[in-house]
Amino acid sequence: NLHNDNVADYSLKGKVILVTGAGDGIGKEAALSFAKAGATVILLGRTVSKLESVYDAILAAGGAEPAIVPLDLKGATFTHYQGLCATILEQFGHLDGLLHNASLLGVLSPFEHIDHGNWHDLMQVNVTAQFLMTQALMPALKKAEHASIVFTSSGVGRKGRAFWGPYSVSKFATEGLAQVMADEYEGSNVRINVINPGATRTSMRARAYPAEDRSKLKTPAEIMPTYLYLMSDESLDVNGQSLDAQ
Ligand code: NDP
Repeated sequence: NLHNDNVADYSLKGKVILVTGAGDGIGKEAALSFAKAGATVILLGRTVSKLESVYDAILAAGGAEPAIVPLDLKGATFTHYQGLCATILEQFGHLDGLLHNASLLGVLSPFEHIDHGNWHDLMQVNVTAQFLMTQALMPALKKAEHASIVFTSSGVGRKGRAFWGPYSVSKFATEGLAQVMADEYEGSNVRINVINPGATRTSMRARAYPAEDRSKLKTPAEIMPTYLYLMSDESLDVNGQSLDAQ
């Protein structure tokens, strides 16, 4: 167990951290937790009303004023991400943290029934968008004293499972991208790691396992120590790891 379970022990004071999929589920909790720990958070997601309520919750909790970036990763291009980098450099001068949290679950189905459009959408949102965004944001990450990039995987990103088709494949790709980057940026100011949240009480989990007893699942708040740890200076020497949040 690398991290301390007490979220109050982590300081992100003065850090600027972008969270994708910040409007709901684990991303929402991460944005709130990062802000409570002193970070200025950039809330990226596709549903503006959800981002606005996270914005309000951060201000109500006394956090620094967040930025809102409404963006659907499905349609976003490299130009959008370059624009995002330019805005971050202009407003903050650098980016200390990037949490790739947003992803699509898609439709679970037998291999022979995998819908081609669904396959394409999952690769676009879960893999290609993360690659393009990370590449475009490197100039801002390199300007940070220490930058932490965190990707989000899954149990099925380490071992394939029947019917999990494109989602599982996209999470293997996420682990692969993180490994390639971690090896390449070893020794630089940028570290790259992966979190597997494990079964967590969100709407995605409910779609994947509609019949299970949700009350037995960990809440997003309960898995936050690993997120805070990887974003904080406690993990400066951690690179290329894939951590379980539970
Ligand atoms: P949710 O579906 O609850 O939340 C995902 C968030 O990502 C939503 O806010 C959603 O926006 C946003 N999002 C989805 N697609 C896009 C897009 N195209 N563009 C922009 N934003 C998008 O998921 P979880 O919180 O459960 O999952 C978070 C991460 O954790 C995911 O990467 C997931 O794969 C991973 N994970 C989750 C587990 C669990 O048990 N919950 C287990 C293992 C991994 P909107 O609100 O508009 O839908």
